[in-house]
Amino acid sequence: MTRQYSRRTLLTTTACVVGAAAALSLMGRGRVVQETAILSGAIMGTSYRVTLPRLATGVSGDMIGRELRAVLERVDATLSTYRTDSEVSRFNRAAPTEWVPISTNTSTVVAAAMEMARLTEGAFDPTVGPLVDLWGFGPAGPSARVPDAAAVAAKRRQIGYAALEGRQDPPALRKRREGLRIDFSGIAEGFAVDEMAHALDRIAVSDFLLELGGEVRCRGSNPAGRPWTIAIQTPSLAAAPPRGHVALTSAAIATSGDYRKFFIVDGRRYSHVIDPRTGRPVDHGLASVTVIGGSAMQSDALSTAIFVMGPEAGFAFAERHQITALFISRSETGFSERMTASFARYLGERPT
Ligand code: FAD
Repeated sequence: MTRQYSRRTLLTTTACVVGAAAALSLMGRGRVVQETAILSGAIMGTSYRVTLPRLATGVSGDMIGRELRAVLERVDATLSTYRTDSEVSRFNRAAPTEWVPISTNTSTVVAAAMEMARLTEGAFDPTVGPLVDLWGFGPAGPSARVPDAAAVAAKRRQIGYAALEGRQDPPALRKRREGLRIDFSGIAEGFAVDEMAHALDRIAVSDFLLELGGEVRCRGSNPAGRPWTIAIQTPSLAAAPPRGHVALTSAAIATSGDYRKFFIVDGRRYSHVIDPRTGRPVDHGLASVTVIGGSAMQSDALSTAIFVMGPEAGFAFAERHQITALFISRSETGFSERMTASFARYLGERPT
């Protein structure tokens, strides 16, 4: 039996039982149907979906749904630039040199973001917010216009992760530059997925598939007792068949690309992934980078960073750091691709 819980039902805790037949077809071979709970909802400007193939007796989908919703709301309340009352927004409004107290959530993400910025020599930069907003991809909404060089140069002077200072005890953040603003959209969804996985650990749920805005983390096996099969999206808005599928048992997978949030001016595509070195959306022909790793936060940030680096430098970085990555580029005939040997093994294909 498959139980579908959406945010609305979770709030009223009435479960609607959907598609017992679907569950049977899901199982195929008429095997004993297990209780599969599917939880879903919307948050952070995107959606989430949780699949739990088997629940221990006494553990209810309602309770899990409330627990996971609380995790996501905590992340939204601390790390959102779309909420004026979040910790990040409070920090972004603060004057330079003022210490702004932060929670352990934010402190964890700051540390990981700074580590990623150092590792990628600034390709990933959590202070890129002023440029994201300038190009129309932040909370102020789309502008679909190309800012002039002077405006880009002015915003570039406001960014730079080296001007962000963290304090451990008590946790606090400070900026050493006027106008510095943080934007965790390149790492915080992955963090939220990891936090949901930790919450399921605490409830002793051993098998799950978590997805938030395209960031995925799974553990154990699917309802049929086999590895989880995750589709790799073809990087286009059109409803194209997936590029392929990877079979995962305990891993996270994240994709960064230029096909979901972009605008086109004079035939040129401008997407929401910004190269801090130029202050402009990346412009190298890559359409997407997909990374498979142990944590969703790491995979989320790495896919963004490697996407910024581009096809050659990004591939060299992935090889150097043994990162499992797939690169899909635009070509005259549609798409071309390249992958690390470790990614090819997941696809059961030879490395390209
Ligand atoms: P990724 O490809 O993983 O990263 C790209 C994003 O990271 C860009 O959108 C930009 O913000 C940032 N970025 C760009 N370049 C760099 C760089 N070089 N280094 C580091 N970061 C970079 N959207 C809404 O529309 N409404 C909301 O209410 C809303 N709330 C949110 C709350 C939270 C806590 C978070 C984290 C995000 C929220 N968002 C909201 C944004 C949305 O959920 C996605 O995060 C956003 O669309 C990017 O998702 P992605 O996986 O495609 O980005």
